[in-house]
Amino acid sequence: MEEGECELCGRFGKLVEIEIEGSTLLVCERCAAFGEKPKQTGLKSAQKPAVSEREIVEEVVENYGERIRKAREAKGMTQEELAAKLQIRASLLAKIEREEMMPEIPLARKLERALGIKLVERVGEGGVEGEAESKDKNSYSMTLGDLIKLKKMDRE
Ligand SMILES: [Zn+2]
Repeated sequence: MEEGECELCGRFGKLVEIEIEGSTLLVCERCAAFGEKPKQTGLKSAQKPAVSEREIVEEVVENYGERIRKAREAKGMTQEELAAKLQIRASLLAKIEREEMMPEIPLARKLERALGIKLVERVGEGGVEGEAESKDKNSYSMTLGDLIKLKKMDRE
């Protein structure tokens, strides 16, 4: 068994590989209780499969550029500084802030974490944002997957 930082709670200790909602995580023995079952195959420990979110589609919010610019300015960062932090080109960030280019979800996630803002929202099956969807949305709103993401955000 290897030692390292738990991907759920951040505690250092012996790690167990578990599978949660299609994601493989290395977690401490305490957090392993969340998992479905420990995996015995050590073949693809570093590779995480894409998270399957069932019928949920993730979309970047409409006024992403404005949100990014305001949050960046509130932190007193230049485009160059933020771009360097995200390891992207400043010119790309400028385009995103002008909403000439929509960031991919992974980049939007990075921006969310770097700036502490919300850029990605989930759209239910069919993409209809109506009152009929709201009940379903709520039931998905705090899955274990979300908890994992929150925990990861906390650490960065
Ligand atoms: Zn843990």
